[in-house]
Amino acid sequence: MGHAFEIGGIAVARGTRQRIALPISHTLTGLSANLMLEVVHGATDGPTVFVSAAIHGDEIAGTAIIQRLIPRIDAAQLAGTIILAPAVNIYGFIAQSRYLPDRRDLNRSFPGNPNGSLASQLAHCFFENVICRSTLGIDLHSAAVHRYNLPQVRIAAGDERLIELATVFGAPIIIESPLREGSMRQLAHERGTPMLLLEAGEALRFDRFSTEVGTRGVLRVLAHIGMLPGDDAMANVPAPSRSNRTRWVRAPRGGVSHRLRKSGDSVTRGEVLARVGGVFGEDCRDVISPIDGIVIGHATLPVVYQGDAMFHIAEVEHPERAGERIASLDFAIHAKEPAGPARPLMDEDEVEEMEADGEDTDAEASAKAARTPL
Ligand SMILES: [Zn+2]
Repeated sequence: MGHAFEIGGIAVARGTRQRIALPISHTLTGLSANLMLEVVHGATDGPTVFVSAAIHGDEIAGTAIIQRLIPRIDAAQLAGTIILAPAVNIYGFIAQSRYLPDRRDLNRSFPGNPNGSLASQLAHCFFENVICRSTLGIDLHSAAVHRYNLPQVRIAAGDERLIELATVFGAPIIIESPLREGSMRQLAHERGTPMLLLEAGEALRFDRFSTEVGTRGVLRVLAHIGMLPGDDAMANVPAPSRSNRTRWVRAPRGGVSHRLRKSGDSVTRGEVLARVGGVFGEDCRDVISPIDGIVIGHATLPVVYQGDAMFHIAEVEHPERAGERIASLDFAIHAKEPAGPARPLMDEDEVEEMEADGEDTDAEASAKAARTPL
């Protein structure tokens, strides 16, 4: 039967799965705070892959993706080992904050130190137990609060293997950029664990497009590298656009903005993306696209200070074709109705609609249930 997968003093037998809590410290109330993992150890040999979410504690889009993945990964059918970490920064997760209580950014605390700050200790635990034992990592992030990111896979520039995997993932766009010094991805890369980073959706929110793109993407990658049966990776996936240059567009004045474009739209240089005026709508200034490209992120909060980042645009070849591909992907996902109460994740729009016409508590309860993770 081969070897068990040992982690945190626990042996996960071949063809089985186990939830494991690696102790980190305590919360203020003295309860234990753990790094929570689900390890699925396949029946046969293969790579070890980790999928992590909420490294930034309020970026919970990936938590929804991991909850969708859990019932779809069968240990008996799996070759290799998958480590799922749905809420890595458990302190930020509890506080609904990007950071840890010591105000440190976990993503900048790697490789960590068992005697360092809280962030450093957590980073050390994750680095030693998860990253160093994996041959590939998929790290799930979202935009910050009041921002939305078009699902996009970010990879180290010029890495052919990662370009292949990111293409298989099938998010609308791939962003290649040099790895940032001292980041988790750079350290993982140095240790021989290449990583795909998904950016999708908004902090503290679930949206169906991000959840579906993320879930399907991870499953496609796992199938492509031979861990799950079947390799229909490239079937029905429009080839993602690629970009190695992005630009932020900032508010030309403070006030109230009205967006004309959103994430996923193709835009041309000189095009008006939004208008910003005073509280009466007076003295409007245009927000102009500096390049031809695809909007890969936008601010969702309409009130802005001068200089606030309102749009993130990626330079791509043939942006109009990319825009069409994204629209068809979006349509394919939204056309698929959720089947019954087993899939309670809903689009934010739908929840709001239900609240708007829900005069009774039933509608409120089901809207609330829709927000409750599986
Ligand atoms: Zn993040």
